[in-house]
Amino acid sequence: MPELPEVETTRLGLLPYVVGRKIVVVTVRDFRLRWPIPSDIATTIEGQTIRHISRRGKYLVFELDGGFLLSHLGMSGTLRAYLKADVPIVAKHDHVDIVLSDATVLRYTDPRRFGALLWIAGAHLNHPLLDSLGPEPLSDAGFSGNYLFEKSRNKTQSIKQFIMDGHVVVGVGNIYASESLFRAGIHPARQAGRISRPRYILLATVICETLRDALAVGGSSLRDYVSADGDNGYFQINAFVYGREGALCRVCAGPVLQIRQGQRATFFCKSCQK
Ligand SMILES: [Zn+2]
Repeated sequence: MPELPEVETTRLGLLPYVVGRKIVVVTVRDFRLRWPIPSDIATTIEGQTIRHISRRGKYLVFELDGGFLLSHLGMSGTLRAYLKADVPIVAKHDHVDIVLSDATVLRYTDPRRFGALLWIAGAHLNHPLLDSLGPEPLSDAGFSGNYLFEKSRNKTQSIKQFIMDGHVVVGVGNIYASESLFRAGIHPARQAGRISRPRYILLATVICETLRDALAVGGSSLRDYVSADGDNGYFQINAFVYGREGALCRVCAGPVLQIRQGQRATFFCKSCQK
Protein backbone atom coordinates (compact mmCIF):
# COMPACT_ATOMS: atom_id res chain seq x y z
CA MET A 1 0.00 0.00 0.00
CA PRO A 2 1.41 3.44 -0.82
CA GLU A 3 2.52 5.08 2.41
CA LEU A 4 3.55 8.64 3.16
CA PRO A 5 7.02 8.31 1.59
CA GLU A 6 5.52 6.85 -1.61
CA VAL A 7 2.93 9.61 -1.79
CA GLU A 8 5.57 12.26 -1.20
CA THR A 9 7.77 10.63 -3.85
CA THR A 10 4.82 10.72 -6.27
CA ARG A 11 4.29 14.40 -5.49
CA LEU A 12 7.93 15.28 -6.08
CA GLY A 13 7.98 13.18 -9.25
CA LEU A 14 4.89 14.87 -10.71
CA LEU A 15 5.74 18.49 -9.88
CA PRO A 16 8.02 19.23 -12.85
CA TYR A 17 5.55 17.69 -15.32
CA VAL A 18 2.31 19.30 -14.24
CA VAL A 19 2.80 22.59 -12.43
CA GLY A 20 1.93 25.56 -14.62
CA ARG A 21 0.12 23.38 -17.19
CA LYS A 22 -3.52 23.88 -18.04
CA ILE A 23 -5.96 20.95 -17.90
CA VAL A 24 -7.29 20.45 -21.42
CA VAL A 25 -9.27 17.19 -21.44
CA VAL A 26 -10.36 14.90 -18.62
CA THR A 27 -11.46 11.36 -19.42
CA VAL A 28 -12.99 9.24 -16.65
CA ARG A 29 -13.45 5.58 -17.59
CA ASP A 30 -14.66 4.41 -14.19
CA PHE A 31 -16.17 6.74 -11.60
CA ARG A 32 -16.40 4.03 -8.94
CA LEU A 33 -13.51 4.67 -6.57
CA ARG A 34 -13.81 4.46 -2.78
CA TRP A 35 -15.95 7.57 -3.09
CA PRO A 36 -17.42 8.18 -6.55
CA ILE A 37 -15.55 10.65 -8.72
CA PRO A 38 -17.90 13.66 -9.16
CA SER A 39 -19.85 13.15 -12.39
CA ASP A 40 -19.08 16.70 -13.54
CA ILE A 41 -15.36 16.57 -12.72
CA ALA A 42 -14.34 17.07 -16.37
CA THR A 43 -16.37 20.21 -16.95
CA THR A 44 -15.33 21.49 -13.52
CA ILE A 45 -11.56 21.27 -13.96
CA GLU A 46 -11.05 21.54 -17.73
CA GLY A 47 -9.56 24.94 -18.50
CA GLN A 48 -8.01 25.34 -15.05
CA THR A 49 -4.27 25.55 -14.47
CA ILE A 50 -2.43 23.37 -11.95
CA ARG A 51 -0.71 25.90 -9.68
CA HIS A 52 0.98 23.51 -7.28
CA ILE A 53 0.76 20.03 -5.74
CA SER A 54 0.87 19.81 -1.96
CA ARG A 55 0.26 16.90 0.38
CA ARG A 56 -1.78 16.37 3.53
CA GLY A 57 -1.17 12.97 5.09
CA LYS A 58 -1.53 10.54 2.22
CA TYR A 59 -3.72 12.92 0.18
CA LEU A 60 -2.24 14.67 -2.82
CA VAL A 61 -3.70 18.14 -3.26
CA PHE A 62 -3.66 19.61 -6.77
CA GLU A 63 -4.12 23.34 -6.35
CA LEU A 64 -6.13 24.66 -9.32
CA ASP A 65 -7.49 28.12 -10.15
CA GLY A 66 -10.89 27.58 -8.53
CA GLY A 67 -10.26 24.95 -5.89
CA PHE A 68 -8.47 21.74 -5.08
CA LEU A 69 -8.39 18.33 -6.71
CA LEU A 70 -7.92 15.89 -3.84
CA SER A 71 -6.41 12.51 -4.65
CA HIS A 72 -5.73 9.43 -2.57
CA LEU A 73 -3.93 6.37 -3.92
CA GLY A 74 -5.84 3.93 -1.72
CA MET A 75 -4.41 0.42 -1.56
CA SER A 76 -2.96 0.10 -5.03
CA GLY A 77 -3.30 3.40 -6.88
CA THR A 78 -0.67 5.23 -8.89
CA LEU A 79 -0.62 8.63 -10.51
CA ARG A 80 1.92 8.93 -13.28
CA ALA A 81 2.80 11.61 -15.78
CA TYR A 82 3.57 10.50 -19.32
CA LEU A 83 5.08 12.81 -21.90
CA LYS A 84 3.21 13.03 -25.20
CA ALA A 85 5.43 10.52 -26.98
CA ASP A 86 5.39 7.98 -24.17
CA VAL A 87 1.71 7.56 -23.32
CA PRO A 88 0.99 3.81 -23.06
CA ILE A 89 -2.15 2.28 -24.55
CA VAL A 90 -4.98 2.46 -22.03
CA ALA A 91 -5.08 -0.65 -19.86
CA LYS A 92 -7.82 -2.19 -17.75
CA HIS A 93 -7.26 -0.26 -14.52
CA ASP A 94 -6.43 3.15 -16.02
CA HIS A 95 -9.51 4.92 -14.69
CA VAL A 96 -8.70 8.57 -15.33
CA ASP A 97 -6.60 10.49 -17.85
CA ILE A 98 -5.97 14.21 -17.43
CA VAL A 99 -4.44 15.69 -20.58
CA LEU A 100 -2.43 18.86 -20.00
CA SER A 101 -1.72 21.76 -22.32
CA ASP A 102 1.63 20.35 -23.48
CA ALA A 103 -0.03 16.95 -24.16
CA THR A 104 1.45 15.38 -21.02
CA VAL A 105 -1.01 12.82 -19.67
CA LEU A 106 -1.57 12.48 -15.95
CA ARG A 107 -2.96 8.97 -15.54
CA TYR A 108 -4.65 7.53 -12.45
CA THR A 109 -4.46 3.72 -12.28
CA ASP A 110 -5.96 1.70 -9.46
CA PRO A 111 -6.71 -2.06 -9.70
CA ARG A 112 -8.52 -2.19 -6.37
CA ARG A 113 -10.32 1.17 -6.74
CA PHE A 114 -9.81 2.10 -3.08
CA GLY A 115 -8.44 5.52 -3.98
CA ALA A 116 -10.17 8.85 -4.44
CA LEU A 117 -10.39 11.81 -6.79
CA LEU A 118 -12.54 14.57 -5.33
CA TRP A 119 -13.13 18.25 -5.94
CA ILE A 120 -13.07 20.95 -3.26
CA ALA A 121 -14.30 24.29 -4.63
CA GLY A 122 -13.09 27.59 -3.26
CA ALA A 123 -9.97 29.11 -1.77
CA HIS A 124 -9.79 27.06 1.41
CA LEU A 125 -8.75 23.45 1.73
CA ASN A 126 -11.62 22.29 3.91
CA HIS A 127 -12.95 18.78 3.63
CA PRO A 128 -14.30 16.26 6.16
CA LEU A 129 -11.59 13.79 5.12
CA LEU A 130 -8.88 16.28 6.06
CA ASP A 131 -10.35 18.10 9.01
CA SER A 132 -9.65 15.50 11.67
CA LEU A 133 -6.17 14.47 10.54
CA GLY A 134 -3.35 14.61 13.08
CA PRO A 135 -0.15 16.61 12.58
CA GLU A 136 2.42 15.95 9.84
CA PRO A 137 5.43 14.22 11.42
CA LEU A 138 7.98 15.76 9.05
CA SER A 139 6.75 19.31 8.75
CA ASP A 140 4.40 20.20 11.57
CA ALA A 141 5.83 21.87 14.67
CA GLY A 142 2.85 20.43 16.55
CA PHE A 143 4.28 16.93 16.26
CA SER A 144 6.61 16.06 19.16
CA GLY A 145 7.15 13.57 21.93
CA ASN A 146 5.33 15.86 24.31
CA TYR A 147 2.36 15.96 21.93
CA LEU A 148 2.26 12.15 21.73
CA PHE A 149 2.57 11.85 25.49
CA GLU A 150 -0.32 14.25 26.18
CA LYS A 151 -2.47 12.73 23.43
CA SER A 152 -1.95 9.20 24.76
CA ARG A 153 -3.06 9.72 28.34
CA ASN A 154 -5.94 7.39 29.25
CA LYS A 155 -5.55 5.54 25.94
CA THR A 156 -5.79 1.78 26.47
CA GLN A 157 -4.99 0.73 22.90
CA SER A 158 -1.55 -0.60 22.01
CA ILE A 159 1.21 1.84 21.17
CA LYS A 160 1.39 0.44 17.65
CA GLN A 161 -2.28 1.08 16.97
CA PHE A 162 -1.99 4.50 18.61
CA ILE A 163 0.79 5.75 16.32
CA MET A 164 -0.92 4.26 13.23
CA ASP A 165 -4.09 6.27 13.96
CA GLY A 166 -4.24 9.13 11.43
CA HIS A 167 -6.12 11.26 13.94
CA VAL A 168 -3.04 11.09 16.21
CA VAL A 169 -0.35 11.55 13.57
CA VAL A 170 -0.49 11.03 9.81
CA GLY A 171 1.82 8.88 7.75
CA VAL A 172 2.92 6.17 10.18
CA GLY A 173 1.93 3.10 8.18
CA ASN A 174 2.47 -0.51 9.13
CA ILE A 175 6.13 -0.75 8.11
CA TYR A 176 7.06 2.54 9.75
CA ALA A 177 5.22 1.70 12.96
CA SER A 178 7.10 -1.60 13.40
CA GLU A 179 10.45 -0.04 12.50
CA SER A 180 9.98 3.05 14.68
CA LEU A 181 8.99 1.00 17.71
CA PHE A 182 12.06 -1.17 17.25
CA ARG A 183 14.32 1.86 16.99
CA ALA A 184 12.72 3.30 20.12
CA GLY A 185 12.97 -0.01 22.00
CA ILE A 186 9.24 -0.06 22.75
CA HIS A 187 7.24 -3.30 22.72
CA PRO A 188 4.43 -2.88 20.15
CA ALA A 189 1.74 -4.31 22.45
CA ARG A 190 2.51 -1.92 25.32
CA GLN A 191 -0.50 0.20 26.31
CA ALA A 192 -0.20 3.72 24.82
CA GLY A 193 -1.45 5.43 27.98
CA ARG A 194 1.23 3.84 30.16
CA ILE A 195 4.34 4.91 28.27
CA SER A 196 6.50 7.63 29.82
CA ARG A 197 7.22 11.06 28.39
CA PRO A 198 10.94 10.38 27.74
CA ARG A 199 10.08 7.29 25.75
CA TYR A 200 7.60 9.28 23.65
CA ILE A 201 10.26 11.91 23.03
CA LEU A 202 12.57 9.23 21.66
CA LEU A 203 9.72 7.67 19.67
CA ALA A 204 8.81 10.97 17.97
CA THR A 205 12.45 11.40 16.94
CA VAL A 206 12.77 7.92 15.45
CA ILE A 207 9.43 8.17 13.62
CA CYS A 208 10.85 11.18 11.75
CA GLU A 209 14.14 9.38 11.14
CA THR A 210 12.41 6.29 9.79
CA LEU A 211 10.23 8.30 7.40
CA ARG A 212 13.22 10.35 6.23
CA ASP A 213 15.20 7.17 5.58
CA ALA A 214 12.33 5.89 3.45
CA LEU A 215 12.09 9.17 1.53
CA ALA A 216 15.82 9.09 0.94
CA VAL A 217 15.58 5.85 -1.00
CA GLY A 218 12.51 6.88 -2.96
CA GLY A 219 9.98 5.26 -0.74
CA SER A 220 8.02 2.11 -1.35
CA SER A 221 6.23 -0.63 0.47
CA LEU A 222 4.52 -2.22 -2.49
CA ARG A 223 6.53 -4.74 -4.43
CA ASP A 224 5.43 -3.26 -7.71
CA TYR A 225 5.53 0.34 -6.65
CA VAL A 226 6.81 2.67 -9.34
CA SER A 227 7.25 6.33 -8.64
CA ALA A 228 5.59 9.01 -10.71
CA ASP A 229 8.28 9.40 -13.35
CA GLY A 230 8.69 5.66 -13.84
CA ASP A 231 11.74 5.05 -11.68
CA ASN A 232 11.60 2.08 -9.42
CA GLY A 233 11.00 3.28 -5.88
CA TYR A 234 11.38 0.10 -3.94
CA PHE A 235 11.85 0.76 -0.27
CA GLN A 236 13.31 -1.78 2.08
CA ILE A 237 15.29 0.56 4.31
CA ASN A 238 17.37 -2.29 5.58
CA ALA A 239 14.47 -3.01 7.89
CA PHE A 240 15.42 -3.99 11.42
CA VAL A 241 12.30 -6.10 11.92
CA TYR A 242 9.63 -5.56 9.25
CA GLY A 243 9.15 -8.67 7.12
CA ARG A 244 11.97 -10.48 8.96
CA GLU A 245 10.04 -13.01 11.05
CA GLY A 246 12.35 -15.81 12.15
CA ALA A 247 15.49 -13.98 11.03
CA LEU A 248 18.09 -12.80 13.52
CA CYS A 249 17.67 -9.39 15.15
CA ARG A 250 20.33 -7.08 13.71
CA VAL A 251 21.11 -5.79 17.21
CA CYS A 252 20.94 -8.74 19.64
CA ALA A 253 20.85 -11.74 17.24
CA GLY A 254 17.68 -13.04 18.90
CA PRO A 255 14.73 -14.11 16.73
CA VAL A 256 12.45 -11.50 15.13
CA LEU A 257 8.86 -12.33 16.08
CA GLN A 258 5.55 -11.65 14.37
CA ILE A 259 2.16 -11.00 15.98
CA ARG A 260 -1.17 -9.71 14.67
CA GLN A 261 -2.50 -6.38 15.89
CA GLY A 262 -5.76 -4.98 14.51
CA GLN A 263 -5.56 -7.34 11.49
CA ARG A 264 -2.05 -6.14 10.67
CA ALA A 265 1.24 -7.96 11.03
CA THR A 266 3.63 -6.54 13.60
CA PHE A 267 7.30 -7.49 13.71
CA PHE A 268 9.46 -7.00 16.80
CA CYS A 269 12.31 -8.31 18.96
CA LYS A 270 11.31 -9.18 22.48
CA SER A 271 14.83 -8.67 23.82
CA CYS A 272 15.31 -5.22 22.32
CA GLN A 273 11.74 -3.96 22.87
CA LYS A 274 10.23 -3.66 26.34
ZN1 LIG B 1 16.99 -7.68 19.36
